[in-house]
Amino acid sequence: MVKSKMGPFGLPVSTAAVHRSGLRFAAGIYRVRIFGVTAGLAGTVPIVLSDRAITLVLVAFATGLLAWPHVAYAIVRRSRHPVSAERRNLFMDSVLAGVVVALLNFRLVPSTIVLLSVAMNSIAVGGIRPILFCCIANALGALVGVGLFGAHFTNINEPWSTLVMLPMMVIYPLLIAKFAYVASERLAEKTRQLKFLSETDALTGLSNRTTFISRLDRLLRACHGETTIVGVIFVDLDNFKTINDSLGHKAGDRVLARLSGRLMQISEQGGLICRYGGDEFVAAVQVESIKDLSIIAAKIIRDMSRDVSIDGTRLKLGASVGISVFPEHAADAASLISRADAAMYRAKHRGKGSATFYDEQMAHASAIKYRIARRLRAAIQKDLKVHYQPQVDMVSGRLIGVEALARWHDTELGQVPPGLFIPIAEEMGLISELGMAVMRTACADVARWRTMHDTSVHMSINVSALQLRRPEFLQEMREVIAQFEIEPSQLELEVTESALLDNVGEARATFERLSQLGVRVAVDDFGTGYSNLSYLHALKIDRIKIDQSFIKELFITTTGQSIVSAVIAMATAMTLDIVAEGVETWAQARWLVAHGCVIGQGYRFSYPLAPEEFERWLITMPLGLSLSTAECSSDS
Ligand code: C2E
Ligand code: CA
Ligand code: CA
Repeated sequence: MVKSKMGPFGLPVSTAAVHRSGLRFAAGIYRVRIFGVTAGLAGTVPIVLSDRAITLVLVAFATGLLAWPHVAYAIVRRSRHPVSAERRNLFMDSVLAGVVVALLNFRLVPSTIVLLSVAMNSIAVGGIRPILFCCIANALGALVGVGLFGAHFTNINEPWSTLVMLPMMVIYPLLIAKFAYVASERLAEKTRQLKFLSETDALTGLSNRTTFISRLDRLLRACHGETTIVGVIFVDLDNFKTINDSLGHKAGDRVLARLSGRLMQISEQGGLICRYGGDEFVAAVQVESIKDLSIIAAKIIRDMSRDVSIDGTRLKLGASVGISVFPEHAADAASLISRADAAMYRAKHRGKGSATFYDEQMAHASAIKYRIARRLRAAIQKDLKVHYQPQVDMVSGRLIGVEALARWHDTELGQVPPGLFIPIAEEMGLISELGMAVMRTACADVARWRTMHDTSVHMSINVSALQLRRPEFLQEMREVIAQFEIEPSQLELEVTESALLDNVGEARATFERLSQLGVRVAVDDFGTGYSNLSYLHALKIDRIKIDQSFIKELFITTTGQSIVSAVIAMATAMTLDIVAEGVETWAQARWLVAHGCVIGQGYRFSYPLAPEEFERWLITMPLGLSLSTAECSSDS
């Protein structure tokens, strides 16, 4: 496929356009060459015939000479690089000129005219190198000529035929020069346009990433030892994904183009700006102080937060900004950008629409992250433990099932909470291995409890979206189920709502197979993601777990109760099971049961327990775990 884009000067340019312009150049040369060969032949024939008889070789050579312009043109048209092919043809011109000189018995004046006119061509087309090649080719041609026609040297000259040839010396090179000039002008223009395109992001017209990095490096070198500083500002749009998803990619592209127009000001004022990828932009500005940088960052956020109107719809975006500073934070472009990026993540975390400067703490945080990942990799197979938190029927106190929760105690790092190591495992590609290790341990424990206590415990296992996406996931799970002879309906996978929504399409087939297998699926942290509920049916969900933040707010905010009762009503209408997470008080339990949610999980009933602790719990089954026996218990 031929790349073709709109050039900055309103012209369509492409590599094909450069090729076409080369061909036009070759067509010009073709006409000049026909003229040159015809005129040259006309001029030299009388001179040659005054010396020689017509021979077969002579006729063959003359025919070859007449055919040459057509052959040359055919070669160029087939070539992918017409201009280079034309240069090689000029070399051939010079060889032929050498042969003609030998044919002219080296008569001084006509030979000089022939040689000079090809030499002038070479000069016209380009400089000293072609001239050198031309001389070599002339000599080579002369040798071939001597071989073909014998070595004769004549001193007599034919003034009249020489006169006929004389204008050729001027006209021929002039014509060639004209075509070469026009073609090289055009080529230079196309090259400029191609260079612009290769340095520019097609959608926004801003610099692209590669160009930006090399320009920033150049700027940093120039600023070395100066008192000014260079700030690198990483801009990430807030809410862009929502717009892309709801209005489509075309509208998303238009929004990006519109917003980048606002960023263009930075380059107009001498700074650098690029589209770094997706909805990310990076700017670099040379300023006097940190305060100036803050002002610029605040202006960028303001500019990005102004409404964008697309087809009459007003859209509200915004941006989070991270800033790193040269020479304080790093000395090269790539490191400055990655630090500004880290700062941007922190800004997003703090709340969208804010700006954050990079600091050493962030470097420290990422160093800690790598250390944790390194130790976790080694720990997965030996140090990772699984604790079990009971889920109970809050009315009768009966055990409904347990949730498996990963626990990790590291000899150097101490107890590391899953809220810290799970996201790191996801980021560093360890989550599948970790998740499978938890599943294996949990299933082994279910099998053990079956033989030891003759109970079949229902087991809920947390599964990361990244795990579900792996094609091997289902097979590996089947193997574990078979190995421990688990009844598939005893297993439930907990997947977070946000993870589900990120890949509804991909998830569908996996959930289809899970339901065929008989394994249940629960939506974890329900209510924290999107409010579109159609996916619950599409993905064959069995259960939802109301997020603990809602339970916590039941008696704190005025909306707490209405949200939870709406969720319960909705789940009941959709015939989904419900579990309330994070139940800590009897008051919460009572309220939940009164509103139709009977199963609860939380510290009120039990903390997550080590397997041996859970076994003890299973035997003693502490009393007072149900509302019926706890009516008079206090929450303390
Ligand atoms: P989660 O799935 O929402 O798990 C429930 C979390 O709430 C657990 O935290 C649990 O200890 C805590 N919790 C239970 N009852 C109460 C309560 O009454 N009050 C309060 N305040 N908290 C309660 P934990 O064990 O720290 O786990 C945190 C998260 O780490 C889990 O959230 C889950 O998303 C993730 N996680 C844990 N183990 C695994 C695992 O094996 N695989 C995956 N992918 N994620 C896991
Ligand atoms: Ca969970
Ligand atoms: Ca949860």
